Amino acid sequence: MTDSPLNLIWKNTLKEIESTFSQAQMKTWFHGSRLSDLKPGKAEISVENTFSKNVIKKYAEERLVASLSKHAGFPVQNITYLISEVKTKDVNNQGLFDGETTAEATDGGSNNNNRSQVENNQTQIESNLNPRYTLDNFIVGNKNRLAHAVSITVAQNPGKVYNPLYLYGGVGLGKTHLMQAIGNAVIAREPQKKVLYVSCEQFINEFVACLKSGKIDSFKKKYRTIDLFLIDDIQFIAGKDGTQEEFFHTFNTLYETGKQIILTSDKTPSEIKNLEERLSSRFNSGMIADIQPPDFETRQAILLSKCQEKGVYFSNEITSYIAEALETNIREMEGVITTIQANLLSENIKTPTIADIRRILNLRYTPSKPSKKNRLDNVFEIICEFYQIDIKDLKGPCRQKEFVKPRQITMYLMKHDLGMTFPSIGREIGDRDHTTVMYAVDKIEKEIKKIPEFLEEIENIKQLYYAKSK
Ligand code: ADP
Ligand code: MG
Repeated sequence: MTDSPLNLIWKNTLKEIESTFSQAQMKTWFHGSRLSDLKPGKAEISVENTFSKNVIKKYAEERLVASLSKHAGFPVQNITYLISEVKTKDVNNQGLFDGETTAEATDGGSNNNNRSQVENNQTQIESNLNPRYTLDNFIVGNKNRLAHAVSITVAQNPGKVYNPLYLYGGVGLGKTHLMQAIGNAVIAREPQKKVLYVSCEQFINEFVACLKSGKIDSFKKKYRTIDLFLIDDIQFIAGKDGTQEEFFHTFNTLYETGKQIILTSDKTPSEIKNLEERLSSRFNSGMIADIQPPDFETRQAILLSKCQEKGVYFSNEITSYIAEALETNIREMEGVITTIQANLLSENIKTPTIADIRRILNLRYTPSKPSKKNRLDNVFEIICEFYQIDIKDLKGPCRQKEFVKPRQITMYLMKHDLGMTFPSIGREIGDRDHTTVMYAVDKIEKEIKKIPEFLEEIENIKQLYYAKSK
């Protein structure tokens, strides 16, 4: 980045206020921020998301006003925030604070921005792939080395060597990650390839829906013309006879035309009960690679890499402690980082000790449940605080964007965290109709699936709310 006057002022400002906050706070809050406009009296700061805006506004604005005024050479009393829509969605992921360079795609393909754009479009519209999952950011240890190596080979030679590839292992160990990483690597190299990722459940639901609506031909056409078919958690096909029959034909068509099929499961083919023998034998006919729970060193390496992705910095002592405490599931590890991050923030702890971490983790695992009424009040309160809006606007009729999104997230939390029914949510949030609530919850669920940063935003809100409700 060249140092334009605005950049320079922003750099100096951040440097100055750096001493007031922890490194982790600086990295999390100001990641991707810039000074987008500056005039006597007011400055506009562009930040990555609402979370950054809110924490900066709440904890750092005063310092910013003073420091900006000093470096600008005129008083700046007013700060406005611009949420930048453009996110780093590089298939190679990361976009780290320090602008560290990331490793080349494992397939050796070189990327350029235009192509990344193509990939992103395809990634989100057609293939259902999440660009966050890459072969590069998959940490390799003894327990997943084979699965990773095989995945690289498949990504380089789809349909040619290991077909089908069957990845199996316990929950949260990286099956979905590896499978999607193969898809992302193939698209990065050959954007024209038709890659499709579906969960087994989606496949079943779509099949049933197409049967009902007489659209089975288009279903067949869709699934039988793919180059790389990724089907996740195939064990759920057990006992679904109609779907198994259809899947068998899909499988054969793809296989016979040299298309790559990748399956994941928490069981080996033979362990899946009520799976037709002919399917089981096909799954067994390719490459079966298992992923076992990671050992301590791998857990620590994964933890460090996840912390880096999230812009969080813990001491060695703390990462060892967490890696020791969490023995199995990597997904859980990610959740734990977010929990710790949010708690440290809300408690304003800059340099956490092991005792802090222990307390925070216990808090997550054995929360004493407050009454539903209190929890509901807490949801309202946290949302209003987080998005800096008034409760009457949250519950009110105004359909301005700045109120609609927090309102929909509130409804989502009421449904998923408080287990409330659609009509009762409607009653609590400004006497809305239950169909409005259903629409809102559905919308948030879809956004969460589509946009990883959005999921993170909701996780942050949840953690603040859990901390408040403890
Ligand atoms: P599974 O499908 O086996 O249940 P996922 O692929 O969804 O597990 O993995 C859970 C989370 O852990 C994901 O966010 C994934 O990125 C992460 N993860 C799993 N294994 C690794 C690894 N070896 N390196 C980096 N991240 C990993
Ligand atoms: Mg999975």
